[in-house]
Amino acid sequence: MATLPRPSRSVRATAALAPLMLVLAACGAGDSDPADYPEESVSIIVPFSAGGPTDTVTRLIAEPMSEALGQQVLVENVEGAGGTVAGAEAASADPDGYTVLMHHIGMSTAPTLYEDLAYDPLTDFKTVGLVTEVPMTIIARSDFEPETMEELTTYLQENADTVNLANAGVGAASQLCGVLLQDALGVELNEVPYDGTGPAMTELVGGQVDLMCDQTTNTTNQINAGEVKAYAVTTPERIDALPDVPTAVESGLDLEVSVWHGLYVPAETPDEIVATLTEALQAALTDQNVIDEMAKLGTAPVPEDQATPEAHTAKLEDQIELWRDLLSAGG
Ligand code: ASP
Repeated sequence: MATLPRPSRSVRATAALAPLMLVLAACGAGDSDPADYPEESVSIIVPFSAGGPTDTVTRLIAEPMSEALGQQVLVENVEGAGGTVAGAEAASADPDGYTVLMHHIGMSTAPTLYEDLAYDPLTDFKTVGLVTEVPMTIIARSDFEPETMEELTTYLQENADTVNLANAGVGAASQLCGVLLQDALGVELNEVPYDGTGPAMTELVGGQVDLMCDQTTNTTNQINAGEVKAYAVTTPERIDALPDVPTAVESGLDLEVSVWHGLYVPAETPDEIVATLTEALQAALTDQNVIDEMAKLGTAPVPEDQATPEAHTAKLEDQIELWRDLLSAGG
């Protein structure tokens, strides 16, 4: 499976095919029938670096989606500005089903966090379906002094100005969780932004930063290998993949958050193509390997009735409103 970033479809088309496209457009021969979709490989844009949780989930479903579509599904990482660079690129892509965006909860926080957001999540995209909802974990470099969530609370309250808190950029889930954590403890830590959890995790394991709150899809293996220290999961119940890690609430911290993911295409994409993608997504989410691998990483595919445009749009609308209220109230 190809992993390298490549020029966007429109750039490549403009550079190499411009004369031919003019001729085809003139004869109307360039319009392909949505019923024939897909006739070539499909790219899923991931808005964060390779090696992070969003990337991991996308690569897990890409292969079974390829099988369902009968075409290769490629993964492209388009990093920057908490996922909004990728959002803008995907919103302006050709609405032909060959550019799909995988995004997470950041799609619902960006309209509040970014005044000049280049796209409207509700009107510039069509939803394909939800993918998974992932717990988060509060973790630290393995030699960070506090051993428990209670000790961490005291330590942060006494040493806030010396602690570096990694995140994947403004609007990233990790930033959001970090804000909730600081809020709950009444502290202000030094936030260190990266272009995704991949590089943030490398630096945390290397000891260059102290603390992070991120999805289990990219923290479970490091926690179980002892490469990082885990204090809490952010779900109401403990999770099977990390049975020894207490919930934040159990440790007296009022913090619950999980990170939902979904697939999007540009708003003008024909419904027939969206339906083909939804079917491929549903096939991927019932693939036994996907179910097993997600379970090892502390999550699960959404039920089939959630992997639909209707359920996804409803979730997006709700979440935009929820985070607008919460983030505005928090200043
Ligand atoms: N987990 C990251 C976030 O904080 C993004 C990623 O790399 O998937 O949003």
